Amino acid sequence: MPRAFITGITGQDGQHLAEFLHAKGYEVFGMVKGQNNPKFTAMRDEFPYVEPVPGDLADLPSLVKALDFAQPDEVYNLGAISFVALSFNQAELTANITGLGVLRMLEAVRMVGGAQHNPIRFYQASSSEMFGKVRETPQTERTPFHPRSPYGCAKVFGHDIVVNYRESYGLYACSGILFNHEGPRRGLEFVTRKVTNSVARIKLGLQQEIVMGDLEPQRDWGYAGDYVRAMWLMLQQDQPDDYVVATGETHSIRELLDRAFAEIGVDDWAPYVRQDPKFFRPAEVDLLIGDSSKARERLGWKPEVDFPALVKMMVAHDLEVEAARLNR
Ligand code: NAP
Repeated sequence: MPRAFITGITGQDGQHLAEFLHAKGYEVFGMVKGQNNPKFTAMRDEFPYVEPVPGDLADLPSLVKALDFAQPDEVYNLGAISFVALSFNQAELTANITGLGVLRMLEAVRMVGGAQHNPIRFYQASSSEMFGKVRETPQTERTPFHPRSPYGCAKVFGHDIVVNYRESYGLYACSGILFNHEGPRRGLEFVTRKVTNSVARIKLGLQQEIVMGDLEPQRDWGYAGDYVRAMWLMLQQDQPDDYVVATGETHSIRELLDRAFAEIGVDDWAPYVRQDPKFFRPAEVDLLIGDSSKARERLGWKPEVDFPALVKMMVAHDLEVEAARLNR
């Protein structure tokens, strides 16, 4: 039975990946931070097969102990301070966890190593936010980085140190440069889920309006369930490499509102949406659109859920969850 170790198990991607790897017959170990993590407690019933292992990306000895216990074949480093807005307020913490955390994880992998004939394979969750103020469109693996937030800067460090450890020490280490991916498990702080959850609450009479930031930024939005498949595929190749994972389509936040409100039968959403400067980023990323030709050709990967289906899925889920809460 192959063994996988996942950091960020309580996050959106960690949950999708645990489900995916379990279905593939993996023994799944999930790193859980804190002494009594309420997010992990909440997901225990849904993921009884995930073996929790304590650890924190700020604490190298804990990472070594965690890997020593799990003895994994594959490590997926998904843990991060992942919310761009928070990274502007807590830039040092973001640099420490999202940036230096990658270095610590790589060091732990080097120390624990795995069997000589079967060294640990490492996946790093890189991000399209590294492209920031984009230098070319669409963005590929060769597009230069120009991050626009402390989060983007920390991800660039993480990405570069993975390349460096691969070249310096021959580690089997890959970075997936994933464009935005969403789903019903997305945290409520992220714009897609904020919109779909608010739309569901407006429909049920639980909320009057949504307070938004800039509506013009455009993103290449895919479905998280599709994207974790690409992570796994990267670790099954003969040689480690980096791959862009994206749909190749871009949509504005305004279009996201159009689609989400259409799901509850509202064409003119202006009366329900108010903009507040406090939700504008100090430096915005205006347009992201990825070219995932390399992943499609070499990994045989392609997305299966398109943007309209994604929004539909998320609104339907939020209507169900909010209605159940209302009836409790
Ligand atoms: P997420 O839902 O925000 O999950 C982040 C995870 O990181 C949580 O499990 C969190 O644990 C964990 N974490 C935070 N601080 C930690 C620490 N000090 N030590 C160990 N773990 C820590 O993020 P996601 O959407 O699943 O994304 C997974 C990864 O992909 C992240 O690295 C993200 O930056 C990257 N990424 C995401 C996207 C996207 O669109 N979703 C796109 C590109 C890249 P707690 O729950 O205990 O706080």
